[in-house]
Amino acid sequence: MGLTVIEAEFAGACYGVQRALNMADETIKQATPITSLGPLIHNPIVVAKYEQAGISIAEAVSDIKTKSVLVRSHGITPKVREQIDDAGLSVVDATCPYVLRAQKAAQRLGTEHDMLVIVGEKGHPEVDALEAYGMLSGTTVMVVSCADELPNTLSEVVGVVVQTTQTFDALEDVLEGIRERGSEADLAHTICRATRQRQEAASELSKRVDAMVVIGGRNSANTTRLAEICTSEGAKTFHIESWEELRPEWFEGCETVGVTAGASTPQYQIDEVVDTLCGF
Ligand code: SF4
Repeated sequence: MGLTVIEAEFAGACYGVQRALNMADETIKQATPITSLGPLIHNPIVVAKYEQAGISIAEAVSDIKTKSVLVRSHGITPKVREQIDDAGLSVVDATCPYVLRAQKAAQRLGTEHDMLVIVGEKGHPEVDALEAYGMLSGTTVMVVSCADELPNTLSEVVGVVVQTTQTFDALEDVLEGIRERGSEADLAHTICRATRQRQEAASELSKRVDAMVVIGGRNSANTTRLAEICTSEGAKTFHIESWEELRPEWFEGCETVGVTAGASTPQYQIDEVVDTLCGF
């Protein structure tokens, strides 16, 4: 008897990533030569597919050879936006609306307070942009991933903005740290529900199956996190980028297999994995 395969209730490309992919598809249809500023998403297979279809990748505005630029869902800093304008490039802006909302919050809180705390991963492109928007007014901006990274002394009131993919636990830890230092947080709640929904659905499904398959780029932080969650629930967990990696022997003795995928995984890649598993 074959495996029973169950897909997590929430899995795969989130609204912002799907929107960016749709915009990329549209430019391909119109045969507009375009350059993506950085890889479109954290998914090497999808990025390679778009490169083959004619979407080049550049790391800096000065390296762009086409007349159009595609801004990915993570968004860009005001300085890069200025460089794009100066270069006279036309822009297909796939910045996720939720990321834009976080950028606006960072800018506003930077203006209203002399200290802004960003809860996020230092060096992540979305966080770099939040930091830059926060600093526009000259305020002090710090990026922390947990309370231990906060300085011992803070202003009486600090603005707090959160990278959209952070967990509520990380935010709560930093808020607690701010309270412990005798300060008050003026919080812009910018965590996106997509991440939480995928994590909760993966955790719930892991408890009911013998093994979990997690699909997504190995360089994708949110996919790696999903794999950690599945492992911590006790499921035998396999993190793969494509159906071609699947091996029947992994599932010896298993009756049920759950499937989940990171926010950068398009639905067709999930379908390929489900179809392959159903054939084992
Ligand atoms: S995770 Fe949320 S904020 Fe980030 S791109 Fe997806 S929908 Fe937008």
